[in-house]
Parts: sequence; structure tokens; C-alpha cells
Amino acid sequence: MAQQHKPRHVLLFPFPAQGHMNPLIQFAKRLNSKGVKTTLITTIYTSNSILAHNTSATSIDILSVSDGFDEGGYASADSSETYLDTFRKVGSQSLLNELKKLQSQGEKIDAVIYDAFMPWVMDVVIEAGIKGGAFFTQACGVNNIYYHVYKGYISLPLSSNSVTVPGLPTLESWETPSFVHNYGPYPGWSQTVFNQFDNIDKATWVFTNTFYELEEQVIEWMKKMWNLKVIGPTLPSMYLDKQIEEDTDYGINLIKANHSECINWLNDKPKESVVYVSFGSAARLEPEQMEEVALGLINSDTNFLWVVRADEEEKLPKGFLDTKPEKGLIVAWCKQLEVLAHESVGCFLTHCGFNSTLESISLGVPLVAMPQWTDQITNAKCIEDIWGVGIRVKADEKGIVRRENLVSCINEIMEGERGLVARKNTIKWKELAKKSVDQGGKSDKDIDTFVSELVN
Ligand code: UDP
Repeated sequence: MAQQHKPRHVLLFPFPAQGHMNPLIQFAKRLNSKGVKTTLITTIYTSNSILAHNTSATSIDILSVSDGFDEGGYASADSSETYLDTFRKVGSQSLLNELKKLQSQGEKIDAVIYDAFMPWVMDVVIEAGIKGGAFFTQACGVNNIYYHVYKGYISLPLSSNSVTVPGLPTLESWETPSFVHNYGPYPGWSQTVFNQFDNIDKATWVFTNTFYELEEQVIEWMKKMWNLKVIGPTLPSMYLDKQIEEDTDYGINLIKANHSECINWLNDKPKESVVYVSFGSAARLEPEQMEEVALGLINSDTNFLWVVRADEEEKLPKGFLDTKPEKGLIVAWCKQLEVLAHESVGCFLTHCGFNSTLESISLGVPLVAMPQWTDQITNAKCIEDIWGVGIRVKADEKGIVRRENLVSCINEIMEGERGLVARKNTIKWKELAKKSVDQGGKSDKDIDTFVSELVN
């Protein structure tokens, strides 16, 4: 009789923020669908918030570790530097204890996949005698720039007006991520993105949430260095290949979504008549910028659904929707995928977080790019000039996007020639995205290879 093997067991440890958790949770679901047992590692604080907001999340196995801020999480640290440093110290010890506990109970752990924002996890994993894989949540092109900074091939502050790295066209310096062209502020975050390559040579695998055709040249270059697995886009299966029936949603929202309110409102709007607006889970707009966006939306010819998180709400101009209440809906959070997939949505005014960008491309929605900081600046360059899926709205010398510019970009995408081209291109990418994760597609094959490598 053939010997029965226990399923392989992989632990996945995202940085505890929405844009990092979504891709790793989705990767876990893909692995589950291929017979691998998975456990999500997260902080005690995040794990408590998940259980408070998400009923469906109970189906995901969670292992909680301490980041040193069990009561209040990141927001309760006095600075990002304090948070990141404490997380590394307390998290390393707490993770090691938890891994050893599992092992002492007879649990065999085949791999730990960690967010490249936390390369210290690899040291813990080695100490526990387990194989590790680094998971990059941002675009390969962006990570390639960071790699060149990490290696010292690009020195900061930048001394030239342009930057060239393999696989990308030459970028003007202002088109590089903000931590590169504006080196200095946010030392904790800039070191986090540059140091993603610490320990990478000790990792057995390197994963990236993108798809081959989208970043072919950079991927080919990175494959020469690492055992790279390109496994994206990590949208729930029902939005792409539809192979995993129950996979309709990311499953975990760190902020509670006003779901039915959004969908009911969208249901009443004509096809492709709504601009969906969101600046993601972390970006903070200057009050002056918030006012320009609000007045730009009110002045445009279109309806709008705008996600304004509770911590940003007080910056909205008082009563700006009073004269045209039917034109817009403001919510604190939504199920973004369902909104983007809704036929009333005509374009996405976005901060260009990489998840939002991939989601919009994968659902065939053209973009108006309004990046704020970090990788978003370079993603906006790709959106407009490389992938051809949208238009980048220009800011003035103060860095503020003015309402007139916003109105003209929205009109151009919703009604103009560039909108038609962008829509055509998103549809091309949408098909390629779907093909990559579908059975036998390039991302699907890389996942299969990873699973087979677990056995060795
Ligand atoms: N998101 C969401 N509802 C919202 C706004 C965002 O579910 O109202 C999700 C979105 O689908 C994406 C993630 O939050 O998966 C944001 O990640 P992204 O990389 O775009 O930006 P970040 O928040 O990391 O800046």
C-alpha cells in the first residue's frame, strides 16, 4: 500500500499592513488549493483586529507573535523607527519560541515565507532549521531600483538627473521611488525597503507578486540571481481564473468595509459613469490636497465613490457635497475588488499602491494616477508610459494636484482618446493576468514548481 504523506506545511508571515497581508493570504489560498497546509503568522494586535472585524477569516489558521505592541499595534508606537526596531527584536524571539513550540509538538514545518520587509525572519528560520523564502509585495522594477541602492550601485543622495537599471527604461530622478529621489525623511521606511535584500542569499526561494509579461525584462534579470517564483497577480481566484470556487474575497479587512452601501449606490449609476477614488490604507493627504481633490470631483462631469478613511475625514471641506448630494458617495472603506469589478465604475483615481494597480489592471479598469510617496511614484510612471493603462495627473511646484488638472485627467480617461487606448490596454493585461494564474499559466507553473521543491 502506498505510504500516506502528511500534507506539506508552509507558514506565511506578511508585514502587518493591508497591502502586505492581501498578497500573502492569497498565495496561501493558492497553496491550499494544491494540497499544501498553510498557516498565517501575524502579530497579536493584528490577529485580534482580524477576529473583531472578519467572520470569514476564522477559516484561516493563524499563529500569533508579539511585535512588542500587543495592545495598540503600529499606531501606538511613538515613531515608525521605534516600531520597526521593536518588531525586529521582540518579533524574532517570539517567532522563534512559537516555531520551537510547534516543532516540539511534532509539527513538521516545510517552509516559512516571509515578507521581504522583515529579512530578520530568515535568521529565525535558520535557527529553527527550516527553509525560508522572501516574498516581495512591490513591483519587480521598483525592487530592482532598491537592489541597486542596497548594493551601492546607486549612491544616495542621487547625484544625477536620471537613473538606469536593467529591465527599465532610464528614469528621470523624480520618477524613482520617493525614498530614492528624496533621500532623508522616513529613515525607518527607507532602510526597510533597501534592506529587503539582507539575507536574500540565504533564502531558498524569492517570490514576487507580479506576472511575467508585465515585467518580463526585470524578471529575466532577477532570475539570474535567485530562485525567483513569479506567482501573481494574487487577486482572489473568482476575479481571474475561477479555479478556486470559494475564493471570492481577500477575507481579511483591517478596516471595516461599508459594503452594501457602496454596491447599492453603484447599482443605481449608469455603466462606466463613476470614478472610484482611493489612496489606500496608509497615505495621508495634505489638507490643501484633500480640498483640491474634493472640489475637482465635484466640478468633474462624473459621479464618484471616494474612500476616505476615518483618520482622514476631518480634512474634507465642510459640506462640499451638500449642493450635489447624489453625485458622490464617501465611505471609510470598501471591498475594493467588488467596486472595481462593478460595471458602473469607469476609472480608478488611485495613489498607485502596487496592489491597487494590479487589481485595476487585472479587472480592466483604466487609471488616473495620483501617487503620493514611496513606490507609488514609479508605479505611476509604469501606468502611464510603460503599461499604457492610464494617465498621470501633474502636481504643481508645491507638490499639490490642482482641481483643474484633476478634472481634465478624469475627463480624458472617461471620455477622451487616451481613455480609449488605456481601456484597450487594460483589457490586454487583464487577459494575460488571467492566463498567468490559470491552470498551466506561467504563475501557476511557478507555484507548482515551488510545491514540488518543498518535497526535496
Ligand atoms: N483596499 C480595500 N478597500 C479600500 C481600499 C483599499 O479593500 O477601501 C485594499 C485594496 O484592494 C488593496 C489594499 O487595500 O488590496 C491596498 O494596497 P495597496 O498596495 O494598493 O496600497 P497601500 O494601502 O499598501 O498603500
